[in-house]
Amino acid sequence: MREITGKQITDAIKKLVIEANYKLDDALIKKFKESIEKEKSETGKRILEQIIENAEIAKDGVYPLCQDTGASVIFAYVGEEIVFKENGNGESILVSAINKGVSESYVEGYLRKSIVRDPFDRVNTKNNTPAMIVTEIVTGDKMKLVYMTKGGGCENMSLLKVLAPAAGLEGVKQFVVDTVENAHANPCPPVFVGVGVGGDFEKCAYLAKKALMRGINEKNPNPFYAEMEEDLLERINKTGVGPQGFGGTITAIAVHVEAFPCHIASLPVAVNIDCHSHRHKEIIL
Ligand code: SF4
Repeated sequence: MREITGKQITDAIKKLVIEANYKLDDALIKKFKESIEKEKSETGKRILEQIIENAEIAKDGVYPLCQDTGASVIFAYVGEEIVFKENGNGESILVSAINKGVSESYVEGYLRKSIVRDPFDRVNTKNNTPAMIVTEIVTGDKMKLVYMTKGGGCENMSLLKVLAPAAGLEGVKQFVVDTVENAHANPCPPVFVGVGVGGDFEKCAYLAKKALMRGINEKNPNPFYAEMEEDLLERINKTGVGPQGFGGTITAIAVHVEAFPCHIASLPVAVNIDCHSHRHKEIIL
């Protein structure tokens, strides 16, 4: 067994929050540069250039990539040989340490706090907690923390539907393309599209978000789903929504699909859209 302390987790989360909000991955910037070449609209090209310029300014650590510094989404892949060291206050060490990291980084880093304590009374918690935490138990004695800053504009455009199996592959693809096209400028395109297929209602939504957290150049290892990703990207880019919805050829930068077994009577599909400010980082403890 291996011990991990709450402080190790808090420190890791603080690092991830600050890095994600200020520094776009080099691989993403490369993708945006390549997209300028492919974009046919002059306005679209200028918007893509501005996205790169914005990332250049943000990396100095004064201005975050976007004013919406999002909800904090954390996927914790916890090795089953890990023991969390007792913190003595009766709370879950993992959850309290993650929330401490989010709270301290948002307050100390002057990042916008976007979480309200209740969906109806709308009182801001003033430290961006609680974080949206998902845990998955994996083998081994390590823990991987994957952090995403998720903006409201793009999250609002995400959809889930449980289709009948007769809808088939084409029905699923059409739902994905329609969801992105109908979202139009709202999720600040060019977007990144996470698609979950299969599972049940909540598993499908989880898969869609998990798909968004995959490295930008990583395809689904299953050739069937890798081809589906390519076809969806092509179809979405034919909708003509374009950068920031002003028309053009680059509506999405990438589509990632994650699949899971499902009930014989169901074909769930979830689409989780992320904006051009695609902020996620990971660390292994
Ligand atoms: S959708 Fe993304 S880029 Fe647009 S305002 Fe929200 S966080 Fe910022």
